[in-house]
Amino acid sequence: KTKAPSTTDKMAVSRQLHEEASSVIPGGVTANIKYFAPHPIVMEEGHGSKLIDVDGNEYIDYLMCYGALMSGHGHPSVYAAVTDQMYSKGTTIFGTPHRLETDMAKKLVSLYPGIDQVRFCNSGMEATLLATRLAAAYTGKKKLAKFEGHYHGGYDQVLMSVNPEEGKSGQSSEPAVVPESSGISDYYVNNTIMLPFNDYQATEKILRRHAHEISAIIMEPVQSGFIPGKQDFMEKLRALTLELGILLIFDEVKTGFRLALGGAQEMYGIKPDLTTLGKVLGGGFPIGALGGKREIMELCSPSSSRDILTAGDDNPGARQAFFHSGTYNGHPTTLAAGLATIQLLEEDNNLRKIFDRTEHLKGELEKMYYSAGIPMQAMGEGSIFNIVITDKAVNNLRDMNGTNTSLRKAVDYELLDLGIYSKPLNRYSMSTEHSEGDVEKTLQAHHEAIRRVKS
Ligand code: PLP
Repeated sequence: KTKAPSTTDKMAVSRQLHEEASSVIPGGVTANIKYFAPHPIVMEEGHGSKLIDVDGNEYIDYLMCYGALMSGHGHPSVYAAVTDQMYSKGTTIFGTPHRLETDMAKKLVSLYPGIDQVRFCNSGMEATLLATRLAAAYTGKKKLAKFEGHYHGGYDQVLMSVNPEEGKSGQSSEPAVVPESSGISDYYVNNTIMLPFNDYQATEKILRRHAHEISAIIMEPVQSGFIPGKQDFMEKLRALTLELGILLIFDEVKTGFRLALGGAQEMYGIKPDLTTLGKVLGGGFPIGALGGKREIMELCSPSSSRDILTAGDDNPGARQAFFHSGTYNGHPTTLAAGLATIQLLEEDNNLRKIFDRTEHLKGELEKMYYSAGIPMQAMGEGSIFNIVITDKAVNNLRDMNGTNTSLRKAVDYELLDLGIYSKPLNRYSMSTEHSEGDVEKTLQAHHEAIRRVKS
């Protein structure tokens, strides 16, 4: 009984603006993920935990820009930091080193156990791209291993088997490598090793077979931000990668700051070789970062590159220079916003408060769905969760694909109509700005949405 609210008059301006956009922007969206049928809702304003669309409808926002906003929309501290950086210092960007780069790098080194040094870039995708290239440069090996269902950005090497079509995905113990977009070269398919998440036995078998050619495993320690790697699985994987000389990359673009200030690696007590960050780190502005062990990160240094370049034939062990650059890397406005956000999370027990509010919402939602006869698990840790309708354990993509997404979607569309915003089927991301009152309204809206869907 999916009733799409955006077909009602309540969203007439959104519909019209989307039509207008579609004539000059393919699909009317600048990222495929922004689209949902029959048309996305076009937003006009954001304040704290709220969004207001072009028709004047107000929503409690749980999308929080796919988790990037952890201090809500337009937080005064973030706003002050950004305006101070831009106006008092008189520039938008320097194109030279500046203090905030070191301030942020020191902050990350202090928070993330696996980070000794950091490089900044402009998106999570750039960070994972840099990580995989650095792993190949460091190990001298060509192939990359990843887990089925894990997302690391939209470029060719990692856009494999994120959610492959049924019938193409291979056996669960040996998942197939399936490109998620047309136009991806076979080179990447042939140089990717696909692993089954949370299945240690099968993962070990594949890794031992290919260890000599795998530079690194890139993984989301908590898949999609809400399906955790089992502690035992994570510990054994760390030990095995050390044994086999395969680097372990934690992609913490989603989990960074959201599970703990030091991300999933703090939660698990596991040190990866490389860590990628993004989203919350930029306080709402575009950012990515790669951090890791000094010995690996030093390869990025231009001074070591120069040594390498002049090493010559008499030093056959010398590595070729490693390239990393970017016009906007370490953007001062972004770093000011990110530092203000981290400071906000650190002070006044704010992170704990978000976690407690999230736990309360999850618990009450589970009770409510259960009373309505719907087996639902509010899965996730820290400040992210997802509503997963199933009575079975969910440990990976295949389990997730077995859940009742049509019921979930029906509820989501009703919720949009009732003023709760998340893109249908998306996670819930909380912020400092989600109040007790928001949580109460959210619970009432779910109650009504379930009633409508069931009636
Ligand atoms: N890695 C993970 C785990 C992500 O969740 C995302 C984005 O959702 C990315 C990488 C890509 O980040 P961006 O969208 O900033 O390029």
